[in-house]
Amino acid sequence: MAADLRALQLGDDGRLRHLVTLDGLPKAVLVDLLDTAAAIAAATGGKVKKLPVLRGRTVVNLFFEPSTRTRTSFELAASRLSADVVNFDVANSSTTKGESVLDTLRTLEAMHCDLFVVRHKENGTPEYLARHVRDGVSIVNAGDGNNAHPTQGLLDAYTIRAHKGADFQRLGVLLVGDILHSRVARSNLHALRTLGVGDLRVCGPRALLPTDLGAGVQVFEDFDRALRGVDVVMMLRLQKERMQEALVPSEAEYFRQYGLDARRLSLARPDAIVMHPGPMNRGVEIASDVADGPQSVILDQVSNGLVVRMAVMARLVGAGPV
Ligand code: ASP
Repeated sequence: MAADLRALQLGDDGRLRHLVTLDGLPKAVLVDLLDTAAAIAAATGGKVKKLPVLRGRTVVNLFFEPSTRTRTSFELAASRLSADVVNFDVANSSTTKGESVLDTLRTLEAMHCDLFVVRHKENGTPEYLARHVRDGVSIVNAGDGNNAHPTQGLLDAYTIRAHKGADFQRLGVLLVGDILHSRVARSNLHALRTLGVGDLRVCGPRALLPTDLGAGVQVFEDFDRALRGVDVVMMLRLQKERMQEALVPSEAEYFRQYGLDARRLSLARPDAIVMHPGPMNRGVEIASDVADGPQSVILDQVSNGLVVRMAVMARLVGAGPV
């Protein structure tokens, strides 16, 4: 991470001030967030129990792109930490009259909002806002373009740790599909590299594989070969909304080459887990019997997202161990 981005996110005292990317965040910070999430899960016992951590604070969900899981999860996480929550309605706001994102944010800031959860199609929007908000206000990136989705990276690492243990070094993790357009893949690679995954692999058609994956990632075009011996298989959606032109022949052909079905899954370790950030396109990247099968932890990812987002927001307001 560039030094200034690190300073933006961590401040001089090392406390988390904004979360715009996992790229370059120290391992100790990642592990602390995962441990805090685990402590919240233990404290609430999986039940809907409110903690007073954000009492008197206001959290604004600013989603300029569609979302089901992430937005609901942030809303529930904030309200379970006793915050007031505003779900800003972009479609009916002055954004449609040409107001800039920064002016929108400044307006809400003037109403004493403390924490903004931002999703935007342009890479870098959350970082830009983090550089312009006033002291004491935090930005959380809920997905920017194909750049980063840090809370998804954290909840995926949390899910892997919960199922496979904290010794990431001995794990083989495979990410499959539209890596090129996936902010989920990028944030996962940032987190899993930092946490020390021993065998990190990506697989997809050449047109959907970026060339800047960095060191330490094995790249495969042959899905059967990529699957051999891995502990975790993470499937990704074809992000057609980010493609200027058709980059894959047809959905049926894509499924034939890169869809995860039961035969393919048997090539991974017998106790391998199957992950997907959602939304899933059944029959395109994943077969229904695998998505709903015994090795799938897809709904665990959703549940874990809640405690991970609670942990992030708790740390952003400087709350100590929960
Ligand atoms: N929900 C994830 C995201 O917002 C993945 C996806 O859309 O495919 O990036």
